[in-house]
Amino acid sequence: PQNVSVKELAEKLEVQSSELVKELMLKGIMANVNENIDFDTAVSLAEKYDILLEQQEEVDILEDFFKVEPSDEKDLRSRPPVVVVMGHVDHGKTSLLDAIRKTRVTEKEAGGITQHIGAYVAQVNDQKITFLDTPGHEAFTAMRMRGAQATDIAILVVAADDGVMPQTVEAINHAKAAGVEIIVAINKMDKPGANPDRVKQELVEYELICEDWGGETISVPVSAINGEGIDQLLEMIVLVSEMSELKADPKRDARGIIIEAQLDKGRGPVATVLVQSGTLRVGDPIVAGTSYGKVRAMMDDKGRRVKEAGPSKPVEILGLNEVPLAGDPFYKAKNDREARHVAEKVIEKGKVDLIKRSSTKVTLDDLFSQ
Ligand code: GDP
Ligand code: MG
Repeated sequence: PQNVSVKELAEKLEVQSSELVKELMLKGIMANVNENIDFDTAVSLAEKYDILLEQQEEVDILEDFFKVEPSDEKDLRSRPPVVVVMGHVDHGKTSLLDAIRKTRVTEKEAGGITQHIGAYVAQVNDQKITFLDTPGHEAFTAMRMRGAQATDIAILVVAADDGVMPQTVEAINHAKAAGVEIIVAINKMDKPGANPDRVKQELVEYELICEDWGGETISVPVSAINGEGIDQLLEMIVLVSEMSELKADPKRDARGIIIEAQLDKGRGPVATVLVQSGTLRVGDPIVAGTSYGKVRAMMDDKGRRVKEAGPSKPVEILGLNEVPLAGDPFYKAKNDREARHVAEKVIEKGKVDLIKRSSTKVTLDDLFSQ
């Protein structure tokens, strides 16, 4: 809590400083007029004069810090789409993400070390697509609770031999509520029982009317096992993202979201972050939820050390003082002091957020890949 000097408080309360010194003495506090007293003491003194003290300045600090001025149109650059895979359990979310990763990410990697950082970037011709690869339902829900939006496109995986199931419906509702574009991947087309028309028919009930049924929902028949349709799916993602004209300003201070985080024995808190606007650099002081620190090192999804990360780029960062939560927003601070100060204020204010957070554990298990 903030401190205030006896003199300042006297001015605010419009009483003599000497009177406050006396009042303080009665409480057993010996303080001269220039000395600071803590906020709680100030509050109890003010009560005597029927004045309610508020920590106005502290609230302002947070509001100022979290306020995001929109960028100038001319500073905006197009950015890759951020894609999440959703759907019913066992319909092939993990398999699909693996299939894409295998064909579009690791094939050019010498040695083929697969780095798992909770997100990866697939290359499609000269376009990039960022896939969130996390046990992402918690992050997604937490982000939505805060009105933050990390994803642009949701791939709704529906098994062609199973059709629309309860978690498919949940996924549709979540994607719609979040206002993200939905592309349907009708998976397991290699299976004898595959019936894509049945899937399309069932989707009509949820107002997803596929193109060949006269609607606008893009659907692609795929098989995560034999690779059928994966290229078309990626092309559709590129198409949809081009139509959405996704843009961000790479020049401003970095801002983004924590995708996942854990404590590493050797390296301390390790967080995968998604930069949403601006450019994050090694050495930047940042605040992430209630944690803070200076970015000590950054690794991309291929485990390579990088010095900076621009919009839509996922990176693993080291240097935070504690493990942030998935879904926490992160911001670049002006300096280390501000980073710490803001984090402390967030902790003070955080009780409400924490209550909200604990109630976000809804039945979303395995909507997302795990
Ligand atoms: P998730 O729960 O949605 O992540 O589903 P998984 O990716 O774990 O897949 C569930 C099961 O379906 C696994 O046994 C996969 O091998 C299988 N599977 C996934 N995609 C396909 C596919 O395209 N064809 C076939 N035949 N099996 C698939
Ligand atoms: Mg899975």
